[in-house]
Amino acid sequence: MNNTKKYGFTTTILHGDRQKPIEHGSLHKPIHTSVAFGYKDARELAAVFQGKQPGYRYGRQGNPTVSALEDKITKMEDGYATVCFATGMAAIGAIVQALLREGDHVVSSAFLFGNTNSLWQTVAVQGIDVSLVDATDVANVEAALTPATRIVFVETIANPRTQIADLARIGELCRERGIVYVVDNTMTSPYLFRPKEVGASLVVNALTKSIGGHGNALGGSLTDTGVFDWTRFPNIFDTYKRFVPEQWGMAQIRAKALRDFGGTLGPEAAHHLAVGSETMALRLERECANAMALANMLDADERIAAVYYPGLASHPQHGIATELFRAYGGLFSFELKDGIDCFDYLNRLRLAIPASNLGDTRTLVIPIAHTIFYEMGPERRAGMGIAESLIRVSVGIEDTADLLDDFSQALNI
Ligand SMILES: *Cc1c(COP(=O)(O)O)cnc(C)c1O
Repeated sequence: MNNTKKYGFTTTILHGDRQKPIEHGSLHKPIHTSVAFGYKDARELAAVFQGKQPGYRYGRQGNPTVSALEDKITKMEDGYATVCFATGMAAIGAIVQALLREGDHVVSSAFLFGNTNSLWQTVAVQGIDVSLVDATDVANVEAALTPATRIVFVETIANPRTQIADLARIGELCRERGIVYVVDNTMTSPYLFRPKEVGASLVVNALTKSIGGHGNALGGSLTDTGVFDWTRFPNIFDTYKRFVPEQWGMAQIRAKALRDFGGTLGPEAAHHLAVGSETMALRLERECANAMALANMLDADERIAAVYYPGLASHPQHGIATELFRAYGGLFSFELKDGIDCFDYLNRLRLAIPASNLGDTRTLVIPIAHTIFYEMGPERRAGMGIAESLIRVSVGIEDTADLLDDFSQALNI
């Protein structure tokens, strides 16, 4: 593969590994299970530890199979560098562990993946102040900023109600104020959207979802887009300032979060995720087309009270989605009219599986208020616009006609 030519999204993922020498010409980056890495010259080992020479020290801080995946994600996001973690939540937790201190303030979208919402509640009792705002309008984010605000956190398309953050204008605000702008790109994936384009500093990807794509491995990542000027960030430890400023953020995240807390991605999982990522573009094309077809069908049915999908012209942020995203994503949610029990409806589905995951090749459905958003209680659910009958659909790659048949036959009582 020619190193200088710019290839398309999928070609880059497929052939990226071979830009570096791989043992025996193996087409896949091999799974390296060794925890330790030996050096003939002890001085070399010391140089690696001191960051003066590239190399591996101990499996918790890095592994060749995981590094190959990190390189792939950096390319997908057009970023500067990536660190992988055992799960998406470990990646989000790493932001808190590595970058925040007691007394710091976070402004976060109120429309969040349930466990991220729970994480903010946890850190709130550990001395970090969190303001939850309606991030579909930058004015709400700006109004919540204080001199102690270190991070603004948003999701691209919020799960499950599909609200879309005011991504570009929040990016401008964060750049002006020198605040780290974190965008959780899981719902769009780097194939549909690159948060770097709206000025994101750090991009979160739950690799478990669209990037791995088969529901057979957990993983998460943080990518530094290279946009943020780390010399403006007050929480960098002196020890990481020996590197060039572009590296400060990732150096601190790799040491203070990955090394000290140990949420390391294993090499086997990294292999599954890397192989899955090769077909991400193909899967997403199908998933987005299927989601659009299902959303249109349900939206036109009078037994359905509401459908939430950015691809529908009635969606409040349809315009932003059209402008920023390649397609509208593989997730939508809907509410049944009174008189149709959501559990009975789910039980009548023959293909779609009641299960809690997203971005799988199979279509998965879940009654949100009764499962993943159960713990937060009815008041907070109402505040997030989550009706008790809301069903979330993560659309798979099944044949479109089969999915349309399934969702429509289940409406016939
Ligand atoms: C699933 C998900 C996460 C967490 O990822 P895990 O790998 O399950 O820990 C974070 N953010 C979003 C938007 C998600 O959908």
